[in-house]
Amino acid sequence: MIVSKFGGSSVASLQTANKIKQIVAGNQNIKFVVVSALGKSEIWKDKITDLLFRLFFLIAENKEYMFLVDEIFNRYEHLSRHLGVCINWHSYKQEFLKQLQDIATKEYIVSRGEYLSAILYSKFLCFDFLDAKDYIIFNKNNSINYKATCGQLAKLPANNRYVIGGYYGATKGGNIKVFERGGSDITGAIIAKLLKAEIYQNFTDVDGVYNKPPNLFKDATGIPLLNFSTAIAMASCGTEVVHQKALEELNGTNTILFVKSTLFPQNFGSIILKEEYKNNKIFVCCSNINLIICQNLTPKLKKQICSKCEVKKIIKNNGKYYIICNSLFVDEKYFYALGCKVLADCCQFIIFSFLKFDKNITKKLKKMQKKLKKYAFFNNFTAFFNNFLIICKKEQKQKVVQILNKIKL
Ligand code: ASP
Repeated sequence: MIVSKFGGSSVASLQTANKIKQIVAGNQNIKFVVVSALGKSEIWKDKITDLLFRLFFLIAENKEYMFLVDEIFNRYEHLSRHLGVCINWHSYKQEFLKQLQDIATKEYIVSRGEYLSAILYSKFLCFDFLDAKDYIIFNKNNSINYKATCGQLAKLPANNRYVIGGYYGATKGGNIKVFERGGSDITGAIIAKLLKAEIYQNFTDVDGVYNKPPNLFKDATGIPLLNFSTAIAMASCGTEVVHQKALEELNGTNTILFVKSTLFPQNFGSIILKEEYKNNKIFVCCSNINLIICQNLTPKLKKQICSKCEVKKIIKNNGKYYIICNSLFVDEKYFYALGCKVLADCCQFIIFSFLKFDKNITKKLKKMQKKLKKYAFFNNFTAFFNNFLIICKKEQKQKVVQILNKIKL
């Protein structure tokens, strides 16, 4: 199961909204979509949450505030109109104004961006809407009540797909609470952790974690693979890609975190995972176009692959089977089973993805190549290898596309 979170800039425009639709349509394993309030876009210079904070202060100072309420609802109205989604925003606005006059707290006000985004995106994606106040349960002291949250999430039918607003939840008594700014990441992490999601995808406007801010430094390089402790250390020093608390929630779990760009989801981005996966356990994980090539696809092996990967197409060509799958996660236990099977049944097992690796890993691959003579390796391949995961470099993308064209995809 996959939880995907889309940040403020990802949900803010027509172009990115359509990308979100493509991403979730392309992967049925995405069961939970967590959305932020609308962020900045080409047309809009303010984040909705910033406007909501301003609104709160205007109300507190007894100043005129209607123009801000209008602006906020206009933005949702404008975007939904462009997305072809019909929502009665007027009634949501009336509900909001009524709350403002009654008992609206600061936390209620600033959380409305996520609430409205979830309404919009649940309609747009045709997923079920979840009001986070009923599912993300806080204790009175602002910590998370994991037991109650887990209990609520467990009640949801497993086959449905959901959109939930990030950043907020409520106490059992129904008082709205919010996380720190940027807290939608935390909502996604909590859901992924409690539902034991295999993957938590954090979609944002940058293409993964970089060694320095890519918008400021031309020579910034992406870090394809890192573990949670490193990511937490980076976040505590100001790397802003994923909220530190979200990383802390996932640290120690088996969930793997992908940091990806909404506009360019085909880029690998970064994978953050627990130390054991990196060091001595088996980890096979790819994203987007993946190709498994094997020479002898027994029905059993096929069943195994289909049970774990979202298989798009199987093509037989030149005596080989090309299995195109959307995303693939293979856990340790399964990998042993499949690994043995693959060793026995296939003389090739190749998974393509787009990832750059350092010298150390290349060295490991060379060693592996020597050991596993049966396995075919493409030129310039590098791999992150514990048993076998073969991943092509970013520069190899062209080559993969060529192969895909060749087998007439
Ligand atoms: N909308 C909130 C903020 O701007 C939370 C989030 O986007 O994660 O901080």
